[in-house]
Amino acid sequence: MHATSPETLALREAVLSYARARMEYDPAPLDAPDTLENLQRLAPDTVNEKGLGGQAALSLFAEVLAPACLSTDHPGYLSFIPTAPTEAATLFDLVVSASSIYGGSWMEGAGAVYAENEVLAWLAREVGFDESAGGVFVQGGTLGNLSALVAARHTAEAKLAADGKSRPARWKFVCSKEAHSSLKAAARVMDVDVVLAEVDGEGRLRGQAVLDALESAGDGVFAIVSTAGTTNFGIVDRLREVGEIANAAGIWYHVDGAYGLAGILSDKTKYLFDGTELADSFIVDPHKWLFAPFDACALVYRNPALAKAAHTQHGEYLDTLTDSGDWNPSDYAYNLTRRVRGLPLWFSLATHGVGAYREAVSDNIQVASEIAEVIRNNPKLKLVREQELSVVVFEREGWSLKDYERWSDYLLHEGIGLVVPSSHLGKPNTRFAIVNPQTTTELLIKILDTMEQM
Ligand SMILES: *Cc1c(COP(=O)(O)O)cnc(C)c1O
Repeated sequence: MHATSPETLALREAVLSYARARMEYDPAPLDAPDTLENLQRLAPDTVNEKGLGGQAALSLFAEVLAPACLSTDHPGYLSFIPTAPTEAATLFDLVVSASSIYGGSWMEGAGAVYAENEVLAWLAREVGFDESAGGVFVQGGTLGNLSALVAARHTAEAKLAADGKSRPARWKFVCSKEAHSSLKAAARVMDVDVVLAEVDGEGRLRGQAVLDALESAGDGVFAIVSTAGTTNFGIVDRLREVGEIANAAGIWYHVDGAYGLAGILSDKTKYLFDGTELADSFIVDPHKWLFAPFDACALVYRNPALAKAAHTQHGEYLDTLTDSGDWNPSDYAYNLTRRVRGLPLWFSLATHGVGAYREAVSDNIQVASEIAEVIRNNPKLKLVREQELSVVVFEREGWSLKDYERWSDYLLHEGIGLVVPSSHLGKPNTRFAIVNPQTTTELLIKILDTMEQM
């Protein structure tokens, strides 16, 4: 086990060369999930008293386990929201792993926390927040939304207490019917109610629907949530209309931009995000459309002191940190120990510059609008909704769920892509979510063409 033993050195080389080989694929094989029974047969008893030895464990991973994981960065992986980290970001994730940086406090991770904050400050500037904004990178949008809502409720509670008023019977927040499932999950964790506002014909939350929801909700509304790019369709709510209502009512305004807010970087779609600056908090996931590896969500508050009041953990062994007055990332979300998961994005931004990101996001939107046009012009295909960002949802005339499934299985089996069925209002469809610079219009046309063979 000595750090310089020949076995250790050889394993170090083997693992690093595995990582290098994975990065050098162009593209990596798509791969496919395997059954539990097969994995139990092919990789039995991997955790035992003696250990397998590093080389054997690595071989097992390379030959059995890794091929049973989908390559979500494959250009044909188009379902859910794919990921497409830059090489710079992936390389730096290795550095983060090798560096044992504690990202919860300034005292322990000042340099890395400074760099993460540079990225958060850039995002804050993009949406029009001023310099007092700040936040933290958390694990994902689910945790980002929860943390923002906890800060919102805490703020509402403090306001009631300051006014000498009593608490409402139930706390509630308003979001649209097309908002992400993580908001409902947050409501369950917080034991609060969700008031679902209607959307317009395009799936967008608008001001009037928020006014209606507020009226039906009665008292106890502590937050209004807009979605800046729904996961299913990439539709952006009317952020300014909703924000003005929230601000006028003195209710916390949160913008969930986990997938779509990156679209603010493109001149083509920047106008859609007008009004984000009215938010009290927003999130955007670098692992979705900011070309960073899993897993990271940037959570930014207009007034971070409100989040700190809600989230700081107190304890005898922590007091030396919490009393210091330093910027401690752990104070701004539901977390304590944390990986400096914003650093891969920081390194990639510092390497390539923001301009490269604007271009890459614009290119994805261009590919999406090109394939939307192809679909529009194909009499057998129909767009379910007009594409707005980089998600394209469409139906094939006469296809049932079974047809989509058969086609999807074929694409996966052939290693062409992952395009799973989806549905809207009970009707099956499928969708392309495009966040990978290697996903070209040509590839998407090729995938559409395979529908003819079904
Ligand atoms: C993906 C997504 C989330 C959840 O983010 P995770 O990183 O998967 O936890 C929340 N909101 C929206 C709009 C999303 O697209």
